[in-house]
Amino acid sequence: MKIDLKNDNIKGKYKIMARILKNKELVNTKLATNYGGWMYCDTCNENIGYLCYSTYDCLELKYKCNCGSHGRALLNFEDSKTGRNCNDALLTIKNRFCCPKDNDPLITILDKKVTNYEIKITCKSCGNIYKKVK
Ligand SMILES: [Zn+2]
Ligand SMILES: [Zn+2]
Repeated sequence: MKIDLKNDNIKGKYKIMARILKNKELVNTKLATNYGGWMYCDTCNENIGYLCYSTYDCLELKYKCNCGSHGRALLNFEDSKTGRNCNDALLTIKNRFCCPKDNDPLITILDKKVTNYEIKITCKSCGNIYKKVK
């Protein structure tokens, strides 16, 4: 059996460093990095929240920025699991919405910067889908 060590090393490193996106749709919204970090309204450039890179499996976000712009984001990964609907509320620690099962921080929405929002986010570690509406 022939093993391509060089190729294998590259794949190994890539797996640790980055996840492969399946869907990425951003409307009037910018993300600081490929699939996480600060989120900005693309119309007024204000930051409206922060998405934790490694703890979510799928995010669906809709919001109305204070400037009047409607933003949307949809992100998921090649290796995302389907997720399970649940009625549990997200846990708020400081200004972060966290999974109430494992305390994993998932997303922050800066309440003062948006008029309203609708979040649907899947926790990567337990697979629960949480919803939050303002
Ligand atoms: Zn705005
Ligand atoms: Zn969880």
